[in-house]
Amino acid sequence: MGLSITERLENGPVLGAEGYVFELERRGYIKAGPFVPEVVLDFPDAVRELHREFLRAGAEVMVALTYYAHREKLRDVGREGDLEAMNRQAVRIAREVAREGDALVAGNVCNTWAYDPDNPATTATVRAMYAEQLGWAAEEGIDFVISETNDYLGEALIALEVSQELGLPAMVTLAPTQPDRTRDGYEYTEACRILAAAGAQIVGLNCDRGPQTMLPLITDIREAVDCAVAMQPVPYRTGPAAPTMETLRSAEGDRAFPIALDPFVCTRFEMADFAGQARSLGVDYVGICCGAGPHHVRAMAEALGREVPAGKYSPSMDLHPMFRADISAKDAAFLHTWTA
Ligand SMILES: [Zn+2]
Repeated sequence: MGLSITERLENGPVLGAEGYVFELERRGYIKAGPFVPEVVLDFPDAVRELHREFLRAGAEVMVALTYYAHREKLRDVGREGDLEAMNRQAVRIAREVAREGDALVAGNVCNTWAYDPDNPATTATVRAMYAEQLGWAAEEGIDFVISETNDYLGEALIALEVSQELGLPAMVTLAPTQPDRTRDGYEYTEACRILAAAGAQIVGLNCDRGPQTMLPLITDIREAVDCAVAMQPVPYRTGPAAPTMETLRSAEGDRAFPIALDPFVCTRFEMADFAGQARSLGVDYVGICCGAGPHHVRAMAEALGREVPAGKYSPSMDLHPMFRADISAKDAAFLHTWTA
């Protein structure tokens, strides 16, 4: 038996890795727009491979790819009949790869787009969607639940309750698309306080903001709660002018989200710096969201002082023919063309 999520958090930051939907979309297995993880049933090996890449890079949690694998979304793409099979298979794949290393398995639910705080009937709809997804996940075997990209505190609380009914620890994170509060009007710090008081083991933020614009919000949340705090930014260079990936614009003024964000991707060094900053701030669950690649995760793991399987192939620029100390005279003659 490995350590539980609670025990791991006591031993120092837990490293997470997400962004499965964006990465598998880039690889040609998920359709941008609906972003439904049909890949789980259609190309399970592709999911298995990405889990394995994150595992080798140092991720301690394999997050089952059930993001947007809920009833409403599957109906949108005409695959409602595949709902149960997709959810169960996603957990099985995550479990299988987690066993290749020493990783935990998280069941995953997200914002449903069905929730409306002004329409109480939607609470039951959302609860039913979470109950079936997490019920199947619990049967397949998960260590805890990640409820993420929550726009509404109200919706996040439903996911927390369903997790608790299943007896599972929950990490509940909000999507910081707004300047300072959830769509139902709670400041992020207050929403996290409420989630912590309601029994969430881990609270915090994920997605939408890059490290630079998420760090100030997390600093406030860290001060506001006593429980573990999670921070999983997107690896994009957001800043004061465009604090979220949704607001980033190309030089021509076109919206970059969600499939033209490439010019804004952070380097592995920027993400390594972020991991160190997050640890210094007292963040307990340090991760990464949409846009992540295994190279980011490995750099973050190494910044946290971890030795990871993929570290065998971490960069050694001292062995590059042009950068090595004993560069040959024939190559040195051309070095100025690389520095001009
Ligand atoms: Zn994300």
